[in-house]
Amino acid sequence: MSKKMNYIASVISSCVLITACNGDKLDNPTLNKVTRLQAPVHEALTLVKNGKSEAVVIIQAPLGKNDKYQAKIYEINRKAAAELVKYIKAVTGAELTIQTSGTQIEKGKKIILIGESPLTFERGISTKDLPLEGFVVQTFPDGLAIAGRMPGKDENFNLGGGIYNIGESAAQGTLFGVYDFLERFCGIRWYYPGELGTVIPPSEDLIIPACKYSDWPEFAKRSGAHWMAVGMHDDVKSNAAGLKTFSSYFRAGDSSYIEFGCHSPADFGIHIDAAPGCFELSKTGKRDKDFPCYGNPKTIDLMFDDLVQFYENGNQNPYISPRSKRPWCEPTSGRIVVSPPDKPVACNCEYCSKLWRDDLGSNGQATEILAKFTGMFAEKIKAKWQGKKVLFLPYLNYLTCPENMKLPENVVPFICLTYGTANHKEPHVMEYSTRAINDWSKAVGNNKVIIWEYLCWPAENTFLPFQYPHIIKDFYLKNRGKLIGSFVDGHLSQGLKRSSTDMTPGGEWAYSHPTMYCWYRLMWNADYDVDAALDEYCTLMYGPSAPVMKKIMDILTVRWEKIEWKEKIKDHNVKSSQINAETMPEKQAKELEELLDKAEKLAAGNILVQKRIDFFGTALRKFLDESTRFYSNNIPEMLIKKVGENPIIDGKLNDRSWGRSEKYYLKNALEMQKLSEQPAGYVKAVWTDEGITFGFVNYEEFKSVADFKERDDRIYDDESIELFLQCRNDQPYFQVIVNCLGACYDSVGNDKSFNFDKIQVASYMDNKNKYWSCEIFLPFRELGITPVSNFEFSGNIARNRKCYYGNEILKRTYRWNTNYRANHNDTSAFGKMKLVE
Ligand SMILES: [Zn+2]
Repeated sequence: MSKKMNYIASVISSCVLITACNGDKLDNPTLNKVTRLQAPVHEALTLVKNGKSEAVVIIQAPLGKNDKYQAKIYEINRKAAAELVKYIKAVTGAELTIQTSGTQIEKGKKIILIGESPLTFERGISTKDLPLEGFVVQTFPDGLAIAGRMPGKDENFNLGGGIYNIGESAAQGTLFGVYDFLERFCGIRWYYPGELGTVIPPSEDLIIPACKYSDWPEFAKRSGAHWMAVGMHDDVKSNAAGLKTFSSYFRAGDSSYIEFGCHSPADFGIHIDAAPGCFELSKTGKRDKDFPCYGNPKTIDLMFDDLVQFYENGNQNPYISPRSKRPWCEPTSGRIVVSPPDKPVACNCEYCSKLWRDDLGSNGQATEILAKFTGMFAEKIKAKWQGKKVLFLPYLNYLTCPENMKLPENVVPFICLTYGTANHKEPHVMEYSTRAINDWSKAVGNNKVIIWEYLCWPAENTFLPFQYPHIIKDFYLKNRGKLIGSFVDGHLSQGLKRSSTDMTPGGEWAYSHPTMYCWYRLMWNADYDVDAALDEYCTLMYGPSAPVMKKIMDILTVRWEKIEWKEKIKDHNVKSSQINAETMPEKQAKELEELLDKAEKLAAGNILVQKRIDFFGTALRKFLDESTRFYSNNIPEMLIKKVGENPIIDGKLNDRSWGRSEKYYLKNALEMQKLSEQPAGYVKAVWTDEGITFGFVNYEEFKSVADFKERDDRIYDDESIELFLQCRNDQPYFQVIVNCLGACYDSVGNDKSFNFDKIQVASYMDNKNKYWSCEIFLPFRELGITPVSNFEFSGNIARNRKCYYGNEILKRTYRWNTNYRANHNDTSAFGKMKLVE
């Protein structure tokens, strides 16, 4: 930081003379705002004339034989030079040759020096005062140099971890300089991966005015997990491959020297026999080998011993994922991760109970437990290993930072902002996240923090291709002084698609690329002008259809960013009615459809523009279908029959009352069911003036898996059924889960502290006839319903099937109605439920 400040000071003092001729290109508001330096005085440089090369690209030959560092720098410069040559050829048709230093240069040709070297030092060009990943572009009478600040000999070039690794992530300064040059002087733009998303304006000449400027990223960490680009590139089948292929064009990078990490140690469970007290204790007295107890002081000693064994003896066992059998986010020379497995903390032991904080709400109940652990663990680490950072991830029910929290300064909070970045448009969400950043930063002595952002939320609730660049900008401007940077998470579990069965080419890129483009620019510099960028994007990409596409983008941006929902969201989930009735009602959806039709017509005959409209339009049409479904009567309806008396709740559906009711079969929740497949079971429902009874029959020919017996335990991890009831649109839905043992979980919204008072549940297992059945009674009074005929509400039924299949556990999910999304609580799939006589 101090380096950067000194640099800014020196820039200001030397900014006396600025040549005016290149003003346009250096001040282009659609590009990163660079720092202009005093330009040399000489004629403009002609690099290409009439499609013929007038220049050569020079890179320094590796200095020092067998010097690995120099060899690496040479490779990096060669890649940057190759990119420059490739794209200059794409624009002008001229192919510049790449030569190494010391070779003969054709007379009269200009030279382009790539990378810092003795060749740039001779000309007084240096990057030594720039931060990592920064670069300088400087002309001189017979050429120009593009040089990035490289890591030193002893610094790590690569940061990240696992699939989030960006190759040479801290050493991309020269490459970024080349890309800036290509954008600024050749007009190239990379809006999304692949040819369609790349704008290459043809030109016969390439002439560069005398200039000198530099730039560097504001945030050192700018990485993400949304690079797969499904359906766009056959050879890019993983996030890692996508990172390698595309991310540098977006200026993704990482020079934070704090490597990514989460959910580590991956296999602390190896200690369960030796130290059962170091594992989470359930209400029924069972210890969970998959989840450490963070309250027991012995856990700190045990995890610390693991670190000693790792660093001193190379023992990796606690860090090897039992699933992949490979290390997962193990300690590195620079950082150690504190991040529990991916579920809320729920330990009932004496230590954890004392630290439990219900007053901090569902986002903060367990923060004291984790923060105390992290504090003591970090102190021990500091005492033994100076300089190692402890990366602590506040998340789930340990996200809210309690007041006056103090943590040692070797702790770096990596805060998981689980509401989702797009939802920062809601004032209460923006306030929550900003406060979390502020509080955690304060807890570590006002040091900076890293944030984990979610591009996937609430995108997984809808196909609306909403855009929110101003929201991201506002958020970074509010928090810029407190951030090391961000990790942007995507729909990795669904192959980068909004729903696992959505076949829209490009997946999330098709839906969100205007926002994603701006997002990475804003991580480079939060002052980036997103309005100028979106104007230019429409103009460059859509030719004759540009004004119409701009209108579409405006509607998608303004309505998302400006319309505040009537009901406050409780987590990242957004209801179908909030999207389809508030954010983008029928009238606006119709307008979008008309505009899209018009844009397609205007593009007739222009194949490239047609394809680009189609890329985004396919995503938009998914939403138009969703809107039509929402406003049509095609959603399924469950008729709940009135009966004379409530069934007896014993799990058996043999009461006379059940005879009157319809069966509604459940189908595969995630993929289209084949005709030959047997249904998984069915649901029935009846009502009296007192309440509704739901009855379920679940077919199962194997032995069911079920462990939980306590109210509100992780019932959903067992063979179980889930019931969602949205009784009023302006209130959160009720959720009831019952497993085959008859244990029950009930909540409203995501508040599991809510319990129905007069609920009755029972399950019955019939192994001989290969099914289990279940009954749930819910009183109207607690549902807030006045029971009258034809009263309508909405909801869904799901089954989590889990059984032993040979040596394996088989899992399947089924629903009454499904839009094939991963989550059961997808309100867009809720069907109609109606009380009938
Ligand atoms: Zn505990």
